[in-house]
Amino acid sequence: MKLTRLRLLGFKSFVEPTDFVIEPGLTGVVGPNGCGKSNLVEALRWVMGENSHRNLRAAEMEDVIFGGSGSRPARNMAEVVLTVENRDRTAPAVFNDVDTLEISRRIERERGSNYRINSREVRARDVQLIFADASTGARSPAMVRQGQIAELIAAKPQARRRILEEAAGISGLHSRRHEAELR
Ligand code: ATP
Ligand code: MG
Repeated sequence: MKLTRLRLLGFKSFVEPTDFVIEPGLTGVVGPNGCGKSNLVEALRWVMGENSHRNLRAAEMEDVIFGGSGSRPARNMAEVVLTVENRDRTAPAVFNDVDTLEISRRIERERGSNYRINSREVRARDVQLIFADASTGARSPAMVRQGQIAELIAAKPQARRRILEEAAGISGLHSRRHEAELR
């Protein structure tokens, strides 16, 4: 799977429709403080199914909707659309008949959010599952939050070890060993 395009509308500071085409190779996003670099990564995590508003630096989930500025009124809706290329058929097998997945998440004030894959309404879980085995996804160790490295350095050894074990994919082994020792 390849992420090829990210479109934002009314998400955090991206009040105007914004379209990012992700070319092959390494992509860098640069800009002055406060220009929206972290918001962009949060949009990616949000459309992949992040369900904790705290992980998106929002007091509640609706706060991802553009909240207004000196010159523009607040919006009532935010939408993020992620295009994923599936020509290598590495998405879950139910999508084997399509080359491209268009995953969208939309939130409206007081109405919550909904997800669509290629225009069909789906559950959050269906979207999360697409990324579950691909070392991507909203909670994967591949997404490193701003400040997370500093947290890692400052963390107590036990907590740091948990993070490293999760990244190495052995936390499941640990819980199984713990179960075996209890028997
Ligand atoms: P830095 O280089 O400091 O990490 P950054 O490029 O990562 O900056 P972001 O944190 O992505 O910047 O963007 C912060 C800006 O987004 C702030 O100006 C903040 O007011 C704005 N912002 C965040 N949420 C919303 C919202 N819901 N509505 C409007 N603006 C928002
Ligand atoms: Mg930032």
